[in-house]
Amino acid sequence: MLSSMRRAVGLLALATLVSSADAQSPGSVPDTIEGHLASGKNAAGGRDNTPDFYGLVTAICVAPQHGAPPPDAPAPREDPNRKATYMQPKQAFDDVYWLGTEAVSAWLLTSNDGYILYDTANVYDAEDVLIGGMKKLGLDPAQVKYVIVSHGHRGESGGAYLFQSRYGAHIVTADWDLIESSLYGYPTGKPKRDIVATDGMKVTVGERTITVYLTPGHTPGTISGIFQVHDRGKPLTVVYSGGTEFNFPNDVAHFDQYLASERRLAALAAAAGATVIINNQSQFNGAADKLRRLADRQPGERHPLDVGTEAVARYFKIEDECAQAQRLKVIAGQSELRH
Ligand SMILES: [Zn+2]
Repeated sequence: MLSSMRRAVGLLALATLVSSADAQSPGSVPDTIEGHLASGKNAAGGRDNTPDFYGLVTAICVAPQHGAPPPDAPAPREDPNRKATYMQPKQAFDDVYWLGTEAVSAWLLTSNDGYILYDTANVYDAEDVLIGGMKKLGLDPAQVKYVIVSHGHRGESGGAYLFQSRYGAHIVTADWDLIESSLYGYPTGKPKRDIVATDGMKVTVGERTITVYLTPGHTPGTISGIFQVHDRGKPLTVVYSGGTEFNFPNDVAHFDQYLASERRLAALAAAAGATVIINNQSQFNGAADKLRRLADRQPGERHPLDVGTEAVARYFKIEDECAQAQRLKVIAGQSELRH
């Protein structure tokens, strides 16, 4: 009797502990807008730490947030100065190349039997940045067997049709509905429905495999990936975060979906031991600047993108805390959206 009472009291104490842990994020973050914003900003590192993610903090914790684009949003016009934003293509790792602009990243994973292109730049930039970039690097665009499109926004899906139509590459995405709705227009051709990404799907070319995970939130079909790269022969595990900003319908249900996906991806990245976080926009992980720093790298120095498991966890914490803050703003009617 006594022992069962003790057990009941013990369970009650445990339940109390769990519910208070549920209500607050780890580290006793106050469940307020200000509390979550402060916690998200602090996760950037800085001063005595490596300020890996100031760009991410600026985008989702500081700058006014974009809501979802209206259904009648005009298709993007060609920027006559777009070439001023182009950056030199670069070898990022032994077996990965970076192709991008000041804002947008695409990544080419090579193998002994063809390439996987991960995200595809804006529609007007794809020819110059992706195909032009590969040619500059001495790589053959016809070797692209699969194109992974993280989500159906313009900076990720813009060049997909080019690789599908010209080189017969297969396109893998879960955002076909968004692509087919043509929200942003595809003035040079819309990608035709091809491979539908599923959770845990493996995309393999030669000795390379990317495991794809469904992480809906940023868009309904956002996908993320985990894979290995090599740096001076050493294998490193990468988590590719497919969607970042809160430019979806800003209601509680959408924030809850976003938070659930990012928490799951954070757990998958931690379980896989990911020490590198990459994505499709340089501002979030500083890819363009860090890859420029590669030229200065000393023997024995860590790769600038190899930030470690603790920093990868902080990246997801920034997303988590600032999404929680924005969610509370929505509930309080304080959300200040910029269209
Ligand atoms: Zn997007």
